[in-house]
Amino acid sequence: MKHLFETDKEIADAILSEAERQHKNLELIASENFVSPAVMEAMGSVMTNKYAEGYPGKRYYGGCEFVDVAESLAIERAKKLFGAEHANVQPLSGVPANMAVYYAFLQPGDKFFGLSLSHGGHLSHGYKVSFSGKLYNSFQYTVDPETETINYDELWKIAKEEKPKLIMTGASAYPRTLHWDKFKEICDDIGAYFIADISHIAGLVVADLHPNPVPYADAVTTTTHKTLRGPRGAIILTTEEHKKVIDKAVFPGLQGGPHMHIIAAKAVAFKEAMTDEFKIYQSQIVKNAKALEETFKELGWRLVAGGTDTHLLLIDVKSKGITGKLAEETLDKAHITVNKNTIPFDKEKPFIASGIRIGTPALTTRGMKESEMKEIAKLIDRVLSNIDDEKIISDVRGKVKELIESFPLYKDLRELYREKLKRQP
Ligand SMILES: *Cc1c(COP(=O)(O)O)cnc(C)c1O
Repeated sequence: MKHLFETDKEIADAILSEAERQHKNLELIASENFVSPAVMEAMGSVMTNKYAEGYPGKRYYGGCEFVDVAESLAIERAKKLFGAEHANVQPLSGVPANMAVYYAFLQPGDKFFGLSLSHGGHLSHGYKVSFSGKLYNSFQYTVDPETETINYDELWKIAKEEKPKLIMTGASAYPRTLHWDKFKEICDDIGAYFIADISHIAGLVVADLHPNPVPYADAVTTTTHKTLRGPRGAIILTTEEHKKVIDKAVFPGLQGGPHMHIIAAKAVAFKEAMTDEFKIYQSQIVKNAKALEETFKELGWRLVAGGTDTHLLLIDVKSKGITGKLAEETLDKAHITVNKNTIPFDKEKPFIASGIRIGTPALTTRGMKESEMKEIAKLIDRVLSNIDDEKIISDVRGKVKELIESFPLYKDLRELYREKLKRQP
């Protein structure tokens, strides 16, 4: 950080403070993770300097021979990892990847299905304030009121009536397994494109801990920075048949120059994801989520859909009289980071919400296991059961501090942070 300190002290300080924050908080946001130093190095590399519009071997700029190496490796590794016929590794992030898929398969005004935001879906699956709900005629399906999971027969019935041109599947807050074969049956029956967005569960899919939609779907989108533990970005996996239309939608359809430093980092993350260590990591993520589930249930909390098969759980905090917003804010005071989240048939607005979403990928990267998860569930329960008690919150904050000291993060940056504090008056 030597140059950064010389050039821009304010940003250098903000980065050090962020490193300290990441170290001292229990990160339970289900969509976050900590990348490896190798991924970080590729992201901070000279590849950021290069324009490379086009695809490997077919660029609109000279001097692309080495960025071509990086992108070709990213493509080959993504294909191998997920068993896909084709991969586009250029999408800048999850929403742009979904946008490219709609752009490839739909015309403005066409009808498509997406899971409702408050039932676990994502903004980009047709929510009314998103481009996806404005440019297209989006129909939002929901989960079953009893099971809080997708009722495939019901979805089939509605799909037959509504006849969407495309069905978007996948979710941001759905704790149970998704059955791609059933979605595929529905899509085949009504002649709709079948798209799966596995942003949250891509790491589990790679490790065979969740079914893989690639053999069924016309296209699969995923972010690379969640359970997959790569740089912030996304990819689209598709078939030989749709390869051309997807590539054209990404470039020149929606994007200009690809971010070659991020693509290089995606390649590194995919290499890491091919190792046995990564599979062990993913299975620990699921074991940790199960440990949280068991402890929360013992402590009397209601879990949406009755529990989890994945890396995340949703707690209905409203069932004990608190809003998601208050739960999030109070846990924050104890250095426990979660996010408020709507639950199915929520009566609160998304900004208030009746639930909190809790995920294990980040803390599992830090090396925590089932015993720490049980302790953390108890700490969360103590805070949420004593929401106005500053003394208890402060006591929990102390317990969090003890716990994280055995799982240090970013030692070097934090030493710089301490020096910075000493320099301050
Ligand atoms: C996180 C997420 C996205 C969006 O990714 P961004 O990188 O934030 O644009 C899209 N779809 C799903 C299901 C997600 O969980």
